[in-house]
Amino acid sequence: MSKALVLQNSLSRKKEEFVPIEEGYIGMYVCGPTVYSNVHLGNIRTFVSFDMIFRHLKYLGYKVRYVRNVTDVGHLTGDSDDGDDKISERARLEKIEPMEVVQKYTNHFHDMARIFNMLPPSIEPRATGHIIEQIEMVQAIINNGFGYEKNGSVYFDTAAFMVQHDDYGKLSGRIVEDLLVESRDLKNQSDKKNPSDFAIWMKADDTHLMKWDSPWSIGFPGWHLECSAMSTKYLGETFDIHGGGNDLKFPHHENEIAQSISSCGCSPAKYWLHTNMLLLNGKKMSKSDGNTVTAKQLFEGTSEHVTKSYSPMVIRFFMLQAHYGSTLDMSDTALQAAEKGYQRLMEANRVLQKIEHNYTGTYSSINDQIENGIKSVFEEMNDDFNSPKALARLFELVPVINSYADGKEEFMQVSQEAMNSLKKCFSDILFDVFGLKDELSSGENGINTNKLSGVMDLVLDLRQSARENKDWPTSDKIRDTLSELEIVVKDGKEGSSWTIK
Ligand code: AMP
Ligand code: ZN
Repeated sequence: MSKALVLQNSLSRKKEEFVPIEEGYIGMYVCGPTVYSNVHLGNIRTFVSFDMIFRHLKYLGYKVRYVRNVTDVGHLTGDSDDGDDKISERARLEKIEPMEVVQKYTNHFHDMARIFNMLPPSIEPRATGHIIEQIEMVQAIINNGFGYEKNGSVYFDTAAFMVQHDDYGKLSGRIVEDLLVESRDLKNQSDKKNPSDFAIWMKADDTHLMKWDSPWSIGFPGWHLECSAMSTKYLGETFDIHGGGNDLKFPHHENEIAQSISSCGCSPAKYWLHTNMLLLNGKKMSKSDGNTVTAKQLFEGTSEHVTKSYSPMVIRFFMLQAHYGSTLDMSDTALQAAEKGYQRLMEANRVLQKIEHNYTGTYSSINDQIENGIKSVFEEMNDDFNSPKALARLFELVPVINSYADGKEEFMQVSQEAMNSLKKCFSDILFDVFGLKDELSSGENGINTNKLSGVMDLVLDLRQSARENKDWPTSDKIRDTLSELEIVVKDGKEGSSWTIK
């Protein structure tokens, strides 16, 4: 029996065994992008992490409803009740409709999701498509005594909430005094009963581009409200997992919890998972001080921060080499190391899947090594989705594959069952759980790899004949020419294999 799934719950700050609310089913909500600009690599890291988590949960046999929203209204430039709407600001700047902004950057996000091989979520709701649900939630919060209207805007009454619930600040670990200080300079403070109150409905002025009618004013919903309304609608009042980047803990997630408790009487999610930030050369990736690199720049090798180009799967592999809860520092050196690791693993898998093994014996000590290795890969994944450790366990199995391919005697006696498990383990974990693709065999790197494979089979056959005829000059010429083309040939018992350097 493999170990049960445990995960680091940000709410309790403890590792907890995962027990779904309904056996066999999981509801997972992840805060999606605010589509006012291209998603950056930091955003991509967060979504790749949740894609890996989604894939692993599905691999464990759960039926997962994965809801990842698109924020297309209400997220203000000040990340709180301050500033213009991010989408509207961009619409003015680009002189296009707000919905054109939304479409443009949603398309870009979807392109990135496809390029990085993320599975689509089960539902991808938009905030503007759920205004009625948000108005209903505001009304419920007012009815329950936790919201009040002032000059057409509605505010969440944090003081009233704290009288009845002592857990405001629990997720982010903020203390109420800090919350008050942080909220002091925000707009509309004079309308608020308490400085830490936040808007759940905002009255729009005449210049505001996106606005809807409501019982209180023509206006728009507060940013935090959309996730509460949409997660409740699609996953129920309490669901299993809520995720996002750890910069969303406060105020966004803290306020989501307060809104759910105030409207439905219960906390929205049992487990909160938070991804950590992507850094560039040790510093937070930030547009303002030029410490940033885009996915496109990495694919093309055009950023000043890199010396060469990197493929999407190398970047995905690089991201999986760190635990989702740790910061990840991107640098040229780290990406180069990831590229080597990715290629080594893919090559090992290619060799492994080609092995035609037909040993009929049942026992050899190597079987235990293989079975234990496989078990540990999945145990690491069940330990809070520890992809770096799972990768390390996978790398420990690579010498086994190479020893077999090299024809080492004891490895020939591996049981048929262990060999089949090894093949399944590699393909399940690499492709289904990690969501990687073998770029060499899927044509991802611009080479028609089917054709290349056919040509390489022919070339290696010719080289094999030359070797059998002891025609060393021909055999060497083939190897050297391939080497100049950065194609490395490796000879083993199963024949020769090749890889692109
Ligand atoms: P946003 O579009 O700003 O709402 O962000 C979308 C998601 O990306 C959120 O879950 C953020 O927490 C996450 N995110 C933003 N910046 C980074 C970063 N540098 N590293 C990792 N995740 C990030
Ligand atoms: Zn959210």
